[in-house]
Amino acid sequence: MKPAAASLDVERVRADFPILAQQVNGRPLVYLDSAASGQRPLAVLRAVEHYETHLHSNVHRGVHTLSQAATEAFEGARARARRFINARSAREILFVRGTTEGINLVAQSYGRSRLGPGDEILITALEHHANIVPWQMVCEQNGCTLKVAPIDRRGELDLERLFELLNARTRLVALAHVSNALGTVLPVKRIVEAAHSCGALVLVDGAQAVPHTAVDVRELGCDFYAFSGHKLYGPTGIGVLYGREELLEEMPPWQGGGDMIRTVSFEKSTYNELPWKFEAGTPNISGAVGLAAAMDYLESLGAAAVAAHEHHLLALATAELQAIPGIEIVGTAAHKAAVLSFTLRGCHPHDLGTILDSEGVAIRTGHHCAMPVMTFFGIPATARASFGCYNTESDVRALVAALDKAREVFG
Ligand code: PLP
Repeated sequence: MKPAAASLDVERVRADFPILAQQVNGRPLVYLDSAASGQRPLAVLRAVEHYETHLHSNVHRGVHTLSQAATEAFEGARARARRFINARSAREILFVRGTTEGINLVAQSYGRSRLGPGDEILITALEHHANIVPWQMVCEQNGCTLKVAPIDRRGELDLERLFELLNARTRLVALAHVSNALGTVLPVKRIVEAAHSCGALVLVDGAQAVPHTAVDVRELGCDFYAFSGHKLYGPTGIGVLYGREELLEEMPPWQGGGDMIRTVSFEKSTYNELPWKFEAGTPNISGAVGLAAAMDYLESLGAAAVAAHEHHLLALATAELQAIPGIEIVGTAAHKAAVLSFTLRGCHPHDLGTILDSEGVAIRTGHHCAMPVMTFFGIPATARASFGCYNTESDVRALVAALDKAREVFG
């Protein structure tokens, strides 16, 4: 029998996030916007401060002690990220600015050099703009074709249709692990198996998955996996692109500059080995250090305990909101993670967000960088509450109370 997952001591977790202890608009802050950006625990803030205070210098280039210390911290963070997603080698871990940059790297390096007329890229109708526009750019540049697998009214991917769209022309499938607009969790492993059987590669946008579930890229079998530090309780401006070593070896660099070269002459330059071939210029060193600390932190809480806690809050909030007249939940897939999108009849989501903010409740409103999802549901925007390891049942009650206030105004 498997041991039961340890439960989360949320009050202790909250003590690690001093930002949550403040008042906003005269009310205790209720932070329900972790899908946009998670807050940072003290462990991350302190790791970054320690690096900046004692270790900072440029990496890879200096023989002096500080440069070596900075290089050790930076490469140590890479080794940490390798363990976090169970990649085979640290050569498969590229530091990037975030998910967006990771996807653009694959689009411009792999897509632009390998795809052409007749080739197809398959995405889903759930994608964030970061997993749509880079592929449209490749299609414009190289004449390949973008195909889109549809979703249904619950926000579930139409798997049958996706499998029909997969064919010998499909060279790459790019899909979210978890939808940021609706919270739907996609059956990535099944899709990877189907794509590989057609000879297509698979890129997974893991921005919304890594904070909520343990990710094992070897178990998933995907070829690329991108995620952002700031959704994982780490710093902004840092993220990871995982790529299978054989693929990265074959791919051309996408940006040129310092650190990514072995030799440079005016006639020809040769490139550095992995992973540095893809890391031109001075990287975000303190960001990588902070990201490694965030991974330590999340693992110290236990991925299963965090997931169970967030799932409980999502179920509670879903039940509470379903009972409120005028509220419609957008995205009711069977398997969801930590995201609750909704509308209130007669009230534009932006107005709703403003009223909730005056009550100290921070939610996100808008199209969530997923305009095609909004178009599909025939709405301009939703209000979105999202949960992290530090949220509580009392946060859900505060959301419900603030929604009641909004209904009085718009009622
Ligand atoms: N993909 C998904 C599913 C997201 O939710 C986001 C951010 O909201 C991104 C990509 C882009 O992430 P970033 O802005 O950190 O590059």
